[in-house]
Amino acid sequence: MEDSMPAKDKTLDDLFIDTLRDIYYAERKILKALPKMQRAAQSEKLAAAFEHHRDETETHIERLQQVFELVGKAARGKTCDAIEGIIAEGEEIMEDFKGSPALDAGLISAAQAVEHYEITRYGTLRRWATELGMKEAAQLFGETLSEESATDGKLTKLAESSVNAAAH
Ligand code: FE
Ligand code: FE
Repeated sequence: MEDSMPAKDKTLDDLFIDTLRDIYYAERKILKALPKMQRAAQSEKLAAAFEHHRDETETHIERLQQVFELVGKAARGKTCDAIEGIIAEGEEIMEDFKGSPALDAGLISAAQAVEHYEITRYGTLRRWATELGMKEAAQLFGETLSEESATDGKLTKLAESSVNAAAH
C-alpha cells in the first residue's frame, strides 16, 4: 500500500492519488452542505443556484469514481482539512447571520470559497493527469473545472446584481 511506502520513493503518481482522494472527500462533504445552503438562502435565485450545483456535484463525484476506475484504485476519500474548515466557516455564517439581510451575501462568500478550493484542486489534477499521460482523466477534470468556474461566475453575478444590494 502506498501509504506505507517510504516518503523518498514517492512520485507524481502517488501525489496524484492522494490529491484525487482529497477532492473525493471534499466533493462528498460539499454534496451534503449544499442542501443546507439552499434551505438557508433567502433569495429564490440563490436557492436555485445551490440546487443546480448540488446536481452538478453528483456528476463531479461520478467523474471522480471514473478516474479511480481508470487508475484501478478503489474510490475512497482522504480527510481534507481545508474543506472541513471552509464548510465550518460557512456554517458559522449561517448561524451568525440567520434572519439578517446580510445572510445571502455571506452564503455566496462561503460558496465561492468552496468553488475556489475546487478550482485549485481540479486545475492541479488536470495538469498532473496530462503529465502522467492520462488523457481521459484530464478530460474529466476539465469538464468539472468548467462547471466549478461557471458556478463561481454565476455567484459573482448574483452578488453584484441583487444580493449585495439587499444586504445593506
Ligand atoms: Fe464540484
Ligand atoms: Fe463546486
